[in-house]
Amino acid sequence: MTNNNIYFIANWKMFGSTKSVNSLNKVISYSKIKKLKAKIIYCPPYTLIKSFVNKTKNSNIEIGAQDCHVQPKYGPFTGAISSKMIKDLGGKFVIIGHSETRLENDNKKINSKIKSALDEKLNVILCIGEKLIDKKKNKTKFVLRKQLLQGLKNLKNLSKVIIAYEPVWSIGTGIIPTENDLKKNIRFIRNTLKISKKFTKSKILYGGSVNPKNIKNLMRIDNIDGFLIGGASTNEKIFIDIMKKSIN
Ligand code: PEP
Repeated sequence: MTNNNIYFIANWKMFGSTKSVNSLNKVISYSKIKKLKAKIIYCPPYTLIKSFVNKTKNSNIEIGAQDCHVQPKYGPFTGAISSKMIKDLGGKFVIIGHSETRLENDNKKINSKIKSALDEKLNVILCIGEKLIDKKKNKTKFVLRKQLLQGLKNLKNLSKVIIAYEPVWSIGTGIIPTENDLKKNIRFIRNTLKISKKFTKSKILYGGSVNPKNIKNLMRIDNIDGFLIGGASTNEKIFIDIMKKSIN
């Protein structure tokens, strides 16, 4: 298997300083390897979007944000950042519905945020995933279905929406789902999109404790289109190692 067209999306969360831009050097060189067709996207904090965009200008790495406001353009919303502002900085993607933001965001608000991002022609990475308690109560499918259907409600064209399946209990814990569970849940997401007549070719990623040790096994799951990577993506050597090990 190659990693052609496989997504490697780096979610930097609240990490990084103005000096962090230098830690893209090796990844930029790696991304220029002739036959590498992996799609590399960095989502740094808002403060670093512009410098990351400038730094990656002559590469095929793209930049995104980690959230946006429900209003696509401008307004009296202290502390908020809109999709238009992200686009103005050169961002092309936005993560919406990450579990670390879901405390302040219900599915309705997430749906509005997705609309705002699509209005500005940004690509959306919609995160969905069950908590440990849901898993224990056998409610994974119920949660995933609800997050998908309510998050994507009334959206007709999903060609710019990527789904990231991130079990909350897997984020930052070093624990990943079994191969069987992962296959099953990704298949369930795909079928739910199909049954609800949503875009059936949506890319579906996995996120949660991806690292150089588990990437080979994760790559064996043939219905995964890529990975959303938190902690491991902030260290360029480790991030490159993951991408290298994803190629057999
Ligand atoms: C994330 O927060 O999106 C994530 C996948 O984190 P980590 O890789 O650190 O588990």
